[in-house]
Amino acid sequence: MFRQMESAGLQDLHFWQDPDTGLQAIIAIHDTFRGPAIGGCRFITYPDTAAAITDAIRLAKGMSYKAALAGLPHGGGKSVIMKPSGLYDRNRLMRSFGHFVESLNGRYITAMDSGTQISDMDNIAVNTRFVTCTRDMGDPSPSTAQGVFAGIRASVKFRFGISDLHNIHIAIQGLGHVGYALAKLLHNAGARLTVTDIDAQKVARATAEFNAVAVEADAIYDVAADIFCPCGLGAIINAETVNRLNCAIVAGSANNQLADDRQGENLWKRGILYAPDYLINAGGLIFVALQHARHHDRAIQLQVAGIYDSLLELYKHAAADQSPTNSIADLRAETIIRQASMEAHQAA
Ligand code: NAD
Repeated sequence: MFRQMESAGLQDLHFWQDPDTGLQAIIAIHDTFRGPAIGGCRFITYPDTAAAITDAIRLAKGMSYKAALAGLPHGGGKSVIMKPSGLYDRNRLMRSFGHFVESLNGRYITAMDSGTQISDMDNIAVNTRFVTCTRDMGDPSPSTAQGVFAGIRASVKFRFGISDLHNIHIAIQGLGHVGYALAKLLHNAGARLTVTDIDAQKVARATAEFNAVAVEADAIYDVAADIFCPCGLGAIINAETVNRLNCAIVAGSANNQLADDRQGENLWKRGILYAPDYLINAGGLIFVALQHARHHDRAIQLQVAGIYDSLLELYKHAAADQSPTNSIADLRAETIIRQASMEAHQAA
């Protein structure tokens, strides 16, 4: 486990179990050099504890990179609650998790993630202040969608030299919280949409509301479009799908889109512009971090809109450097984190 932590650059890993509620949870703190670690809480079924630990560590590191590039005064953290196999009381489980978060004294701030919802955050908040996405704060997904929309505009500007999305053809994979909100923004901006989801009802809603064309889930990779927009699962760009993509740009909300770093290089070699996932989807993190710090809505909107400039600037840097965009983004995030770590060590 220490080897795993070392290779991810993880600061600390915490475990908690509460026999009374059945809670078994893990909090991974990647770093606190730039401020408290922040990141969502997953509530999903894991095959075993090792898989949950690996997920928490990998996701915490990703949150550090995201916070660093978004210029937020936070490190990255992530928590996972192992979904019990038997009967359990969800509200009590979440309240117990609140004690776990509180025990870290503000080194980690939690938020919604896969499998958790606003009511869970309300229950967590019964026992800790270090929680976001409660009923009075709301869901970060609309901000994530706004940020991806800004990032798509920046990508179109860089790739095609045009400032509007009229008639730009976008293939969206996944019409959940972010995908649906994003489809609405894109449709209103005049884009043409091809969509897919494994949930037929979501597809039916998008075809009716946005005049979108529907395709089967696996066919989305082959759609001849300007932009492929992954808003469903992670690791969807792999050695097989990368060669099927028939687009000029990949820009979407999904976390960990590249199955491995080599796929960023493969996209680059194919002349496909890739918007690094943790840069383009940072709107939700910006929302939760600034809400937690009690910033006004306007300040949040402005910072989310700033994803346009950040991405455009990164594209220019990558082009000048003749490097894949994901490598440039990683390098930048690592430099920011290393710098903060050096400053923290000098001050100590
Ligand atoms: P969600 O669960 O609401 O939506 C995901 C959608 O993808 C669902 O409708 C699901 O049916 C669909 N889907 C799953 N497998 C699919 C497949 N094989 N093909 C097509 N569709 C499939 O999740 P969300 O909150 O909308 O997040 C979407 C992605 O964006 C995730 O990767 C998430 O980690 C990432 N993300 C979300 C936020 C946020 O604020 N919600 C922030 C940053 C990143």
